[in-house]
Amino acid sequence: MKDFDYTRPVTLEEAARSGARNNARFIAGGTLLVDLLRLDVERPELLVDLNGMPWTLIEQEPDGVRIGALVRNTELATHPLIVAKFPVLAEALLSGASPQVRNMATVGGNLLQRTRCSYFRDVLVKTCNKRSPGSGCAALEGYSRMHAILGGSAGCIASHPSDMCVALAALDARVSVQGKLGPRDVPLTDFHVLPGDHPELENVLSPGEIVTHIRLPDSPFAKNSAYVKVRDRAAFAFALASAAAALELEGTAIRSARVALGGVGTKPWRCRETEANLVGRPATRESFEVAARLALSGAKTTPHNDFKVKLAERVIVRALESAGSKA
Ligand SMILES: Cc1cc2nc3c(=O)[nH]c(=O)nc-3n(C[C@H](O)[C@H](O)[C@H](O)COP(=O)(O)OP(=O)(O)OC[C@H]3O[C@@H](n4cnc5c(N)ncnc54)[C@H](O)[C@@H]3O)c2cc1C
Ligand code: SF4
Repeated sequence: MKDFDYTRPVTLEEAARSGARNNARFIAGGTLLVDLLRLDVERPELLVDLNGMPWTLIEQEPDGVRIGALVRNTELATHPLIVAKFPVLAEALLSGASPQVRNMATVGGNLLQRTRCSYFRDVLVKTCNKRSPGSGCAALEGYSRMHAILGGSAGCIASHPSDMCVALAALDARVSVQGKLGPRDVPLTDFHVLPGDHPELENVLSPGEIVTHIRLPDSPFAKNSAYVKVRDRAAFAFALASAAAALELEGTAIRSARVALGGVGTKPWRCRETEANLVGRPATRESFEVAARLALSGAKTTPHNDFKVKLAERVIVRALESAGSKA
């Protein structure tokens, strides 16, 4: 591991100024960043520790809930407001990592976690456009079982690893960020960007910009929501395919729906066409199956991950059934 300087600011101005310095990285829970330092994938000059900042609360607001970026994943998953009003978020968080990791991991760090593509994490592999822009993509010719089937490009097919972000995408969450240009709010679905020709760019943050909060708006569907994740083992495993679903029903008819996918997209994957297709239909398995096929209609697979299409369709149906059973 390369040597680095360390600072622990206590004001936003100081944190943003330090974070904007050349080759600085923020650190929160450290469950991802310390891994990447040890692997030599990240080689910062300066670590800016955010743990002196006050963003540790989960607060009821007039029109929703505000969550501090330093709230730990365990605290968020077990908070009464989240369990009662946004069960899909609690379920998604509890499906991730392990109790020890969730006790350390923060909301901001989860939002900004990097791909688990094994070629990205292995510096002996020289071809990775995300790690070394312009070098090529080892996964395209290599082993791609865990990789994305939606949103990939000729430069990168790495899947986005977060469970939490899939639930946040379905819940219309907004990300509050602060930097040199002052505060701004970004919809979660616009926060992460597709790899395109620049897989090294993963989100809309500019240098020094910090995530301070997540906002979850109240909605008529949020409490009827569920997360289903399929993975290779029951703990310590990332999604092969996962779905967050939420339904608002009027009698047996669907008034509004939300569907987002994990494990299959290069970013948390919101399925807007699928949602529109569900509106007005009866909340039945047949409706869910039609909508699920639509969600995967644009999938581009490799011989190693073509099984994900059927798997994701089934996961969507199960998540919608589970959401419907709560309505
Ligand atoms: C063994 C293992 C299994 C895992 N399994 C899963 C899983 O199944 N599902 C899943 O979703 N996740 C899983 N994870 C990932 C885990 O959720 C992340 O490591 C964790 O959420 C990162 O949070 P952190 O606070 O520790 O981030 P850190 O490691 O501190 O930081 C991560 C990144 O976020 C940036 N950052 C942190 N906070 C901010 C902020 N406020 N503003 C701007 N940038 C910031 C850092 O600069 C860094 O780039 C697993 C991790 C491990 C180690
Ligand atoms: S899929 Fe993306 S992260 Fe993985 S090797 Fe290719 S460019 Fe790198």
